[in-house]
Amino acid sequence: MSVRVRIAPSPTGNLHIGTARTAVFNWLFARHLGGKFIIRIEDTDQERSRPEYTDNILEGLKWLGLTWDEGPFYQSQRLDMYKQAVQTLLDKKLAYRCYCTTEELDDMRAKQKAAGLAPRYDNRHRHLTEQEQATFEAEGRKPVIRFKIDDDRTIVWKDLVRGSVSWKAGDLGGDMVVARAAEAGGVGQPLYNLAVVVDDMDMAITHVIRGEDHIANTAKQILLYEALGGQVPEFAHTPLILNQEGRKLSKRDGVTSISDFHKMGYIAPALANYMTLLGWTAPDATQELFTLEEAAKTFSFDRVNPAGAKFDWDKLNWINSQY
Ligand code: GLU
Repeated sequence: MSVRVRIAPSPTGNLHIGTARTAVFNWLFARHLGGKFIIRIEDTDQERSRPEYTDNILEGLKWLGLTWDEGPFYQSQRLDMYKQAVQTLLDKKLAYRCYCTTEELDDMRAKQKAAGLAPRYDNRHRHLTEQEQATFEAEGRKPVIRFKIDDDRTIVWKDLVRGSVSWKAGDLGGDMVVARAAEAGGVGQPLYNLAVVVDDMDMAITHVIRGEDHIANTAKQILLYEALGGQVPEFAHTPLILNQEGRKLSKRDGVTSISDFHKMGYIAPALANYMTLLGWTAPDATQELFTLEEAAKTFSFDRVNPAGAKFDWDKLNWINSQY
């Protein structure tokens, strides 16, 4: 099997250290196994996506030495494919139109909360009659499209970092929206989980390597692979990067984008070197200085620690001083 991996950043901000570290692990894994590293820009959220962020992301990756083999591909140019997939789900009766209004959904969640239950969609429009649909349409309601989730399923996968992971479908929040509201009979803007599965299937991605904040999405996506008849890839969920207080490193922590590190004078190979150590340990644990090419020779997920990786300025500064 030839390995194909990808990163799929959303251009809603500058290249973040977390995305860059995910890119490093994808790149190392691909290079170690002679596979391909692909870039896909997830720019479907037209309100928040900006071309200057796309430029910043691509420039940051190049600066770090993370060369790619295919792409960049842009989701905004692939909308028809996603809409077709949504239509397939509708045709197979695996998805349906939901006409609930925001007020109805808010009310549903408020009642669930008051009853001490986790908020979820209660699947109330799963079995609408044609007459009921026609009435909603006559009222001018615009439906979203929901994918049916079988609450009784348990989704299980062998994660390359975390071992066996199982997720109860009943905890996924009910039937999930895969396309935004559209005029009656149409298909609105497809959402992340659907688009990402269509893309990963189309690009024959063999290993999806991304942050652990996507674990619940992985459970949803496995259901979508099955529904669309795709081959489920392998998954590796990389540990979060943590700040000094042990919380997820965020913009509030100050310098978090690669272009900021660049401006501060950090050397690209030193920063790339430091990022390989955010979760991974070389087979010789005392070895901490290496180029990306050297790290790729021994990289494997067996040596990635599933626990969060603390960002350590002292170590970064020490590595930087060695270059
Ligand atoms: N656009 C998503 C992100 O930046 C991609 C996640 C994925 O790799 O599937 O988090």
